[in-house]
Amino acid sequence: MKSEMKSIDLSSQKLVAMRDAQNALSTGASRVVIGENCVVTPSARDFLAQHNIALAVGDKPTALVTQKASAPVPASSVNADGGKVLARGAANPKLFYTPEAEAIKREICTVGRKLWMRQFVDGNGGNISYRIGPNEVICTPTLISKFDLMPEDLSLVDLEGNQIAGTKARTSEILLHLEIYKAVPEAKSCVHCHPPHATAYAITGRVPPNLVIPEFEVFIGKVAISPYETPGTAAFAETVLPYVKEHNTVLLSNHGIICWGDTVTHAEWYAEVLETYCWTLLIASQLGAPISHISEQKGADLLAIKKRLGLPDARFNTLNMKECQLSDLEVPNAIALRPNTGECNDSKATDADLEALIKSVTDAVMGAIGGK
Ligand SMILES: [Zn+2]
Repeated sequence: MKSEMKSIDLSSQKLVAMRDAQNALSTGASRVVIGENCVVTPSARDFLAQHNIALAVGDKPTALVTQKASAPVPASSVNADGGKVLARGAANPKLFYTPEAEAIKREICTVGRKLWMRQFVDGNGGNISYRIGPNEVICTPTLISKFDLMPEDLSLVDLEGNQIAGTKARTSEILLHLEIYKAVPEAKSCVHCHPPHATAYAITGRVPPNLVIPEFEVFIGKVAISPYETPGTAAFAETVLPYVKEHNTVLLSNHGIICWGDTVTHAEWYAEVLETYCWTLLIASQLGAPISHISEQKGADLLAIKKRLGLPDARFNTLNMKECQLSDLEVPNAIALRPNTGECNDSKATDADLEALIKSVTDAVMGAIGGK
């Protein structure tokens, strides 16, 4: 048996993705050798398992590798013939075929098309999921445009990311959604996308200020920003954990956004509200006039509406309220604030930034005048 095993050596690669897995299959390999710190994307791991191709770290036995893997998809979750999949633990694959599931699948496809039409997703980007049972989540597949999505393309996974139904491989970014479902029982649906104006904030490490537009205060409020990690990895999924209980919307540094809600449609609404807010602020910043803010008192009314709607907000926490202002008025005319977690802004540092900026402009002007 050993003599028949054909290995493919990818130990020089930092990342093993779907293309590598497909390549391994086409060469007839039964084992892929990877380096100690290699990241294997969940979809590649699924694909290899589905085709009975073992993963090995150097000379170590393959059994150890499955245990050690960062992505929680053991080979046993998928049958060798690839078509049908086995249920693991308490997850129930029958939930994928109920009338409720069929309605959710249609809603996910509608929302996928909305995301694409609004240019919130590009290529095969973005992903959508819905928690239909305690251990069952319906999600979008990898490598399909959200515009082209059909109900039969969707997958069912358990909370560890094992695919338990559906013929197309689940999105590699499902781990991000699953961390949210595990941390926030109220979260029934997650939508991840890359809307350009919100992503502009995410790539500059800035968050939009508050008390500018009522809808934003009520539906979102303080936005958190999570640190960058490689998409599709367990480490990436965990970056949002400190924020998701008190924020239904998180900016993902150098990546995009993730929103959760009680329905698929509502989670997508939050993406729309955040994107439009960021866009409006950026347009307003070009008018040359300061942005006016809603008063703290009127802001408290909005927060009360939000509480009645049962939406989360870091400002409900009384400890935060003492230290945090409803708005961020201490930064004159700001359209963005320094990175924060939605808890508190370090206004002193922001003032220092502004002072440094004013000084550099003043120096440049004085230099220009002096030079004449
Ligand atoms: Zn993404």
